[in-house]
Amino acid sequence: MQQTGLSPDFGFLERAEAAGPFNAAECFQCRKCTNGCPATFAMDLYPDQVIRLAILGRKEEVLHSKTIWVCASCETCSTRCPNGVRIAELMDYFKELAVRLGIPSPEPAVTALHQTFLENVRYTGRVFEGALLPVFLLRSGQLGSKLEKGTWRDEVKLGWQMFRKGRLALVPKFIQGKGEISSILRPSK
Ligand code: SF4
Ligand code: SF4
Repeated sequence: MQQTGLSPDFGFLERAEAAGPFNAAECFQCRKCTNGCPATFAMDLYPDQVIRLAILGRKEEVLHSKTIWVCASCETCSTRCPNGVRIAELMDYFKELAVRLGIPSPEPAVTALHQTFLENVRYTGRVFEGALLPVFLLRSGQLGSKLEKGTWRDEVKLGWQMFRKGRLALVPKFIQGKGEISSILRPSK
């Protein structure tokens, strides 16, 4: 059933706290988190609003918001919060929950980057830049538009500059303990 403002999910925050704790109930809406967040320009809900809606059981608004995907997990909000609300970690939890519930991301390019990055690290145990960008461009559907507009040349130029400075490997280097990294990342698929 589609949740409305009149049918909140009162167990929403309780279930989230069981996965944390995130201390969201301690929030007294001072907005210090939002005032320090570097990504609010791209958000549809401010971080303090996400916390407020979660407390009110407004699960659908939280899980369909752009904000949980735009959040860069920089931890500025958590550091600034006077009440120890673990906002950044809560955003990550909401992202994972949205994926588990099959809620389509309003920011598909961000989701494509998340998936590509995790697959990349699962495969080699560390980031392999030589595959990261091409796979992301393919998965996000941006390769076609870059070819059409000719902006792919900018990516090639950047790649060449990185390669010349030794910052772009052409073959992956596998780390010891790659299997352990893969098993840590498996639940976040
Ligand atoms: S900084 Fe903490 S207490 Fe203040 S609004 Fe944000 S989450 Fe709530
Ligand atoms: S962790 Fe997310 S919500 Fe918090 S300050 Fe950084 S970008 Fe903003």
